[in-house]
Amino acid sequence: MKITFLGTGAAEAFPALFCNCENCQRARKLGGRNLRCRSSALVNDDLLIDYGPDTSAQCTRFNVDLTKVKDILITHSHADHLYMHDVRHRKVTSRLKGSLGIVRLWGNKTSIETFNEQTRVVFMEELNQGGKHAVRPTDEEVIEEIEDFFFVKTIVIEPHQTINLGRYKVYTIHAHHKEPELSLNFVIDDGTTRFLYGTDTGLWDEEEWNYIESLGAKLDVIALDCTVGLGRTGGHHSNESFLKTKNEFVTRDLLSERCTFFAHHFSHQSNVTYDDIVELMKPHSVEITFDGLVVEK
Ligand SMILES: [Zn+2]
Ligand SMILES: [Zn+2]
Ligand SMILES: [Zn+2]
Repeated sequence: MKITFLGTGAAEAFPALFCNCENCQRARKLGGRNLRCRSSALVNDDLLIDYGPDTSAQCTRFNVDLTKVKDILITHSHADHLYMHDVRHRKVTSRLKGSLGIVRLWGNKTSIETFNEQTRVVFMEELNQGGKHAVRPTDEEVIEEIEDFFFVKTIVIEPHQTINLGRYKVYTIHAHHKEPELSLNFVIDDGTTRFLYGTDTGLWDEEEWNYIESLGAKLDVIALDCTVGLGRTGGHHSNESFLKTKNEFVTRDLLSERCTFFAHHFSHQSNVTYDDIVELMKPHSVEITFDGLVVEK
């Protein structure tokens, strides 16, 4: 399995656009791995996790071509994970060459509703081109048209589902974030490697741990949210709750011998430089992600 971390920053990115706090200033000065865009990840070349406002720029930056993507998994509806106005460029007139298959967009009810609303805005602009009258497509029209126009099919999913996506099996975990929305984390299994993508979430409860345990096979790659670093945990992990969660994986014997445990989705609000985070996490055998990191497992 090849995993490309297209972005590893939290909602405001790191440095944050409208911030000159010490962490942001240091990140601007040091550059390199300290510069983090909004989070998303590509599995091989055909499965994308989240589509945020930086996905287009990051694909350009890291020479990634999304034409082979067949499925997009959305963790939740926050705009740093779901900002798909670019979907308009899947239409025939935006492409010079090649046919596109249907991409399936999997997300909880709120995420799919949010996507439909973003798509409606795009449709309104398309329908009103050259005309004076504002035409607002109905919900039904949006759902009907996205497949023909943008080659996208939306599917609502919930926690604790197993989804078959061609060569992948995907299991949905209930992330503790943005309640009452049923935010999701994913375990992706390609038959050889099991990858857990855990953002955005705070501590899972016993029910979630029991669900993860019930999946049977051990995990080979974990990317867990470490958003608030030196701050306090809530709907996101701090260093402390991150390490508590990592220990829980060890105690429950859920990690394979070759497992690599990554921290990602860093906020400028309570995180230090890349090098300092590496030092902080080294004694705990935690690897630190950066934008453009490619992991082969
Ligand atoms: Zn986020
Ligand atoms: Zn800042
Ligand atoms: Zn979020």
